[in-house]
Amino acid sequence: MFPEYDVIVVGAGHAGCEAAAAAANLGSKVLLITMNMQTMAQMSCNPAMGGVAKGQIVREIDALGGYSGIVSDRSAVQFRMLNRSKGPAMWSPRSQNDRMQFALEWRRMLEQTPNIDFLQDMVVGILNKGDRVTGVLTSFGYNIESKSVILTSGTFLNGIIHIGEKQFGGGRVAEKASRGITEQLVELGFEAGRMKTGTPPRLDGRSIDYSRMEEQKGDSNPSKFSFSNTANLSRQLSCWITYTNNDVHETLKTGFDYSPMFSGRIKGVGPRYCPSIEDKINRFAEKDRHQLFVEPEGWNTVEVYLNGFSTSLPESVQYKALTKIPGLENVKMFRPGYAIEYDYFPPHQLRLSLETKRVNFLFFAGQINGTTGYEEAACQGLMAGINAHRSINDLPPIILERSEGYIGVLIDDLINKGTDEPYRMFTSRAEYRILLRQDNADIRLTPIAEKIGLAKEYQTFRVKQKMNYIEILIESLKESKVDPNDVNAYLVSRGTTPLQERSTLFNLILRPQLTLYDIYSNLELDKIYKSILPEDTTLRNEVMEQAEILIKYDGYISKEREIVSKMKRLEDIPIATNFDFQKLRSLSTEARQKLSKVKPQTLGQASRISGVNPSDISILMTFLGR
Ligand code: FAD
Repeated sequence: MFPEYDVIVVGAGHAGCEAAAAAANLGSKVLLITMNMQTMAQMSCNPAMGGVAKGQIVREIDALGGYSGIVSDRSAVQFRMLNRSKGPAMWSPRSQNDRMQFALEWRRMLEQTPNIDFLQDMVVGILNKGDRVTGVLTSFGYNIESKSVILTSGTFLNGIIHIGEKQFGGGRVAEKASRGITEQLVELGFEAGRMKTGTPPRLDGRSIDYSRMEEQKGDSNPSKFSFSNTANLSRQLSCWITYTNNDVHETLKTGFDYSPMFSGRIKGVGPRYCPSIEDKINRFAEKDRHQLFVEPEGWNTVEVYLNGFSTSLPESVQYKALTKIPGLENVKMFRPGYAIEYDYFPPHQLRLSLETKRVNFLFFAGQINGTTGYEEAACQGLMAGINAHRSINDLPPIILERSEGYIGVLIDDLINKGTDEPYRMFTSRAEYRILLRQDNADIRLTPIAEKIGLAKEYQTFRVKQKMNYIEILIESLKESKVDPNDVNAYLVSRGTTPLQERSTLFNLILRPQLTLYDIYSNLELDKIYKSILPEDTTLRNEVMEQAEILIKYDGYISKEREIVSKMKRLEDIPIATNFDFQKLRSLSTEARQKLSKVKPQTLGQASRISGVNPSDISILMTFLGR
């Protein structure tokens, strides 16, 4: 009934969908097996993509040929560029999305991708011959053969849902938990752990009094995620802001005795940076209010998501507390919030390619690796899809370096530092964040996608064209001089000192009060630049923005590049796969243990393992003959 596949992807969440698309677009014959085809690419929690550091990841996925950026743009109801008032390294795109349209768009794109077959079924175990995976076993009793398997089971492995004292099995509310896989992998020698996460109640928008809340509109000139020709939003929905108060807190406290978190019924570790409302009240007792975002679930529904009010307290307590929040006095709940506990596999058991060290051609991606968030899952799926395809074709894996992308940072952190609480991305995790900006994700990564055959023709053409335009523009700005008589009134109006003599436009752009776009619009430079800049407005704006960033931040960018090249020398020193760290007695005991566990492939990777000190690295360096 089934042919032998090149890649079987288990689970059609954010990781699974990207994995299937990437492997299929590279030419692999893919089978995507998921428990429920109606919930493909389901946003389990908030209907939003991107945000601080996560937005950079979506742009990187798009630049590499993944689909998340396109799907997000096509299903967006609001778009904002966060942190605009800070430097460009911090600018982070975020969209509010139509939950149903997001899932639908993903399914449509996958169904239109050649080389993907679909099966609605539950995988209950992997098939293996010795240390090599050979396929999967499903709950319908199918043995399906495959050269490689990618597990992306999200929050479903032995999932338990908690609401107050109620507790039942499930991978998400109203969806079955997945059973069998953890037990089998543990038998094969894998180590498994337990984590937890939670979600807020969903509300009936018709019962909300928005006049008591602050409106949060989208950007007036909304941008978008994808570098392709997806449309910018022409209309947007607003979000709303309200706050908890002491009355809300006191009401919530009446449920603490029944809380699965405080009673110890939940054993898994939760996300530190996405705490439940009861956790916030407990941990930040001095705060008399917490901000809540009231977010629309889509164009065609009145359902509303209450961001910031994640909870697993009894439904009656949730409801009572909600009615004490300004604007929610008459609220109706569509469904209560809940917490979920699930199995994950500590990621030190993976190689940087996301292939497991124990079973060859078996890959893990997404929440199964201890991460949290759609973007974190999607980018791992993309890399696992690429590397599964490459491994079965005897090609070396694609491993992004920390200086190449947030995706590289995320995977490197997971494997070298491990994680014992749900890992989410922050800009502070990246040491080269001036290089890893959202605006240059295409310039950084599309050439890699081109090299491996994942970039579409238009993508590579556009990036080359853009780089060309930027270079010409910068050169021309260095040459074009302006006269004080022509520009001084404008300079004074922008609060910057007038010129005494002729100056290049390049020098003017260095001034913090001025932007290239503002100069261009106000000094009527379009006459000069018409022939230099692209006609397409989106591309023109991108070229101007890039040129300006490269001019203004040149010092910082060059310095960071210098550090990268110094580190690269360390990075490139290989360590043999069978290197016996235990025999190197001059290493500290902790370093020996950690190095033996992680088995780093290069000295650079070894240097980032927590517990491995610079002195251990010099010992290794000497031993390796450097
Ligand atoms: P998922 O999106 O969970 O998808 C897994 C897929 O695999 C599902 O389609 C499932 O049906 C399928 N599957 C599982 N096992 C099998 C099997 N054996 N056979 C076949 N198919 C299988 N993230 C945040 O960033 N912030 C939050 O506040 C937050 N809260 C959350 C609250 C809840 C209640 C839940 C459930 C998740 C929350 N998340 C949150 C996490 C976010 O949803 C995940 O990080 C993201 O969806 C993970 O993507 P994934 O692809 O790894 O897995």
